[in-house]
Amino acid sequence: VFDVGAGPNFMPSAGELMSNLDAAGISPEEVTHVLFTHAHPDHIWGLLDDFDEPVFPDAEYYINRAEWDYWRADDTLEKTPEARKSFVVGARNRFEVLEDVINLFDFGDEVLSGIEAVDTSGHTPGHTSFAIHGGDESLMVLGDAVTNSVVSFPKPDWPSGSDQDSEKGIATRMALLDRLAGEKSRFAGFHLPGSGVGFAEKAGTGYRFVPA
Ligand SMILES: [Zn+2]
Repeated sequence: VFDVGAGPNFMPSAGELMSNLDAAGISPEEVTHVLFTHAHPDHIWGLLDDFDEPVFPDAEYYINRAEWDYWRADDTLEKTPEARKSFVVGARNRFEVLEDVINLFDFGDEVLSGIEAVDTSGHTPGHTSFAIHGGDESLMVLGDAVTNSVVSFPKPDWPSGSDQDSEKGIATRMALLDRLAGEKSRFAGFHLPGSGVGFAEKAGTGYRFVPA
């Protein structure tokens, strides 16, 4: 599983991961590995059930070392704008539960067999996309490096309000779209329309999102 969603307490339209897994016939105990792209609420708050226990009790958990260190740093709460302080508190609460079991990786690592950690920092300091290689098909799990099909693709050089480091977010998005369009790679974006799965095609000075 890549990211655990928001859980029931972030926004009314979110928190459907467990019921969707159930619909797919997958029980929580069957999940063996959970990889996080970053620690924003809609990607990690779903970690805990009503009893503050991890929803995937038998899984191994993985997150980028820079992401782990950033949210845990002493000055992060103080440096975060008021409107996003709950992001810090929420991430820390989840990290506390994971503290003894978390596996940390670095950009460029092969996190699991055939799964490469791609540096897509900018949205957050340790934001990671995962390139899954295997057989004839590949897939890149984007996370939030490219979030908006209407804006991010045609105008990747426009700053995104949701990127913590706007300049780095732009550089990351341009490099990532160049790679995805060049390799004709299939990808999954968590905020893209429909299933979120598609391809990037060069269009004019930018790109366009082609749903798969
Ligand atoms: Zn995010």
